[in-house]
Amino acid sequence: MGEASSSRLVSRGEQGREMTKINVIQPGTIEAPPGEIPFLLLPERNVFQARSARLSALAEGHALADYLRFLAALAGAQHESMSLFRRVRLPEAQELERCREHGMPPLGTRGWDRDPVWREALRCILTELEAGALPEAARATIARLKDTDDASLERMAETLFAGDSDEKLDRAAKPFIGAALQAYWLHLVTPLGAGAFGRLETPHLCPACGSAPMVSVVCIGADHGLRYLTCPLCSTQWHAVRIKCVFCDTTKGITYYGIEGGSAAIKAESCEACHGYLKILYMDKDPNVDALADDVASIALDVLMAESGITRKGTNFLF
Ligand SMILES: [Zn+2]
Ligand SMILES: [Zn+2]
Repeated sequence: MGEASSSRLVSRGEQGREMTKINVIQPGTIEAPPGEIPFLLLPERNVFQARSARLSALAEGHALADYLRFLAALAGAQHESMSLFRRVRLPEAQELERCREHGMPPLGTRGWDRDPVWREALRCILTELEAGALPEAARATIARLKDTDDASLERMAETLFAGDSDEKLDRAAKPFIGAALQAYWLHLVTPLGAGAFGRLETPHLCPACGSAPMVSVVCIGADHGLRYLTCPLCSTQWHAVRIKCVFCDTTKGITYYGIEGGSAAIKAESCEACHGYLKILYMDKDPNVDALADDVASIALDVLMAESGITRKGTNFLF
């Protein structure tokens, strides 16, 4: 699915969709004093419902319409699966305190003992999806996953979290495994409250689960103009100063790229020192942006950035 779509996007780029550099204001001119900034924004339990609606809206007239509609159905199934998790073990108060003291994520993808209920969520998601219209390849993957034993599913989750061994991962299965783990982790963070989590020693990792960010989002409303990194797993958002590389902390050599004629609500923030970029979404340009939906729908920007030799740093557990 991804392969064919990418090549179509590349050719569109060659037909004149160029990347443009955007002039940048200096660091420090747009931030509120640190004491007034909420460090953490916890997600709502209806994240997947909102995401599904956003994906359906983005699919209209999009080159990747079928894929976005599939992800909309997947997000809808994730929302359904949330009702499975009522009696799941959460970290004890002491555990949370110890993690805050040591700058560790209490629900770390490697440290936290996953409840097997995430596999029930997976089966629920697969059953929900099967009932609707699906591409043949997705239907075959669902059938295969339904026959996969528990130990193999756990290994697939481990491989997904390891990240650096992408070739070991069954790519067709990745969106389904990722979706079930996202649903389980969203359930873990939502009842705990923002006070449960502290700042980590590595500030670009999610304070709740330790994942590297998917994108960053510049907020509107009470947090107007503040930039938050978004977790690809648990959907927690945590504050990061703007116009500063989130990975190496430099404020020099930060450049913003967008697609000419494309949405003003999404740019790639690149760092000269890292030779990498993270996408940044602007809610003042489009209040309906969703981290995952808009990340996937703007894959043309990733293609153009890759052609320029700048490496994607954002993590996405669905593709
Ligand atoms: Zn997280
Ligand atoms: Zn950097």
